[in-house]
Amino acid sequence: MTIVRVDAIPVAYTEPNDCGSTRSLLLCRLETSDGVVGWGEAITQFPEASRSAAVLMEGIADTLIGRDPLDHLAILADLHKRSWWYTYGGGIGAFVVSALDIALWDLRGKVLGVPVSTLLGGALRRELPVIASTHAFNASLDFEVQRHGAYVKNDGYKGIKIGMGKRGEAHLGYEIARDVAFVADLREAIGPDAILIMDRGQSLVWSVADAIRRTRAFDEYQLAWMEEPLEPYDVEGFRRLRSQVTCLIGTGEREFTVRGYQRLLGEGISDVVGFDPARAGGITGGLEVIKLVEAANVWFNAHAWSSAITTAASIALSASTSRCLLFEMKPLANPMQNELVTSPFVQRDGFMEVPTGPGLGIEVIESVVEHYRLR
Ligand SMILES: [Mg+2]
Repeated sequence: MTIVRVDAIPVAYTEPNDCGSTRSLLLCRLETSDGVVGWGEAITQFPEASRSAAVLMEGIADTLIGRDPLDHLAILADLHKRSWWYTYGGGIGAFVVSALDIALWDLRGKVLGVPVSTLLGGALRRELPVIASTHAFNASLDFEVQRHGAYVKNDGYKGIKIGMGKRGEAHLGYEIARDVAFVADLREAIGPDAILIMDRGQSLVWSVADAIRRTRAFDEYQLAWMEEPLEPYDVEGFRRLRSQVTCLIGTGEREFTVRGYQRLLGEGISDVVGFDPARAGGITGGLEVIKLVEAANVWFNAHAWSSAITTAASIALSASTSRCLLFEMKPLANPMQNELVTSPFVQRDGFMEVPTGPGLGIEVIESVVEHYRLR
């Protein structure tokens, strides 16, 4: 059996969890001579990045054609050899390798008839606790408090994560006193035991002092962690912040490579290491990062905010380590989670089951892929 076809498919879709913005991904479809299909994804986010990654993937496709899909690591080595000039340190090339790696894992599982979690050595648990991960975008913060309270109280999520400084009219992340009042109201709405995480959007420019003030004030309301409070390169800022607060600090989601994570963990500034398989080396990259996370006794947190393909890959990775606190799901129905696959991922009573079907355990609906293809 050999790989006979590599399709790079840029898609665009409306994301209700991001105030109805248009988001873009690069999907990847591998097919073997026996007609087995594997799917991968790159979280390119922007149409120009999806198109660029598609061009690179089409250019590198000959590295895969004619190969046995079970020669996964050998194929990866050749992909890295071929793309050495434009994948070092990450960037568009890293998106391409990530998507291909996820598709190769899916293909391997489907060929062998076992789930990816089994290929990884077996899931440590059959289900993961799930929080609702979304952005605040309504001008009325009372509305946002009620909405997020309902995710916990009515829908059963174990907690919430809220992005500040995102699209829409909520304008969180600008006035400290207003932000703190919002967090206080949220804690009351979700109850004392629910997980609460606040996440700084990249558009917010905070000084280290701002980050310290906010984190300390939020932590009065039992913050599980503060995510990306500073730009990832600000190592000294993270050190100052960490010396002043007790809650966990999350950073890492913008890293592209295992070496990037090695550096991050070497600095000792991240308690909760954000990782997206659709950006930083696929499932293979995730396994390497998990080893680093486990050695450092910190936490692995999947940044799974795109399609069901990445969700499946991220669940398998998250279930493979005891250094994972929770799994994040977008609470509002959205095309790339709810339309793309025959059985969309849903949390039940605050838990997500680890898929048991072969490969990633999902069936991608090709007509839906075509419908969202970026023209
Ligand atoms: Mg984040």
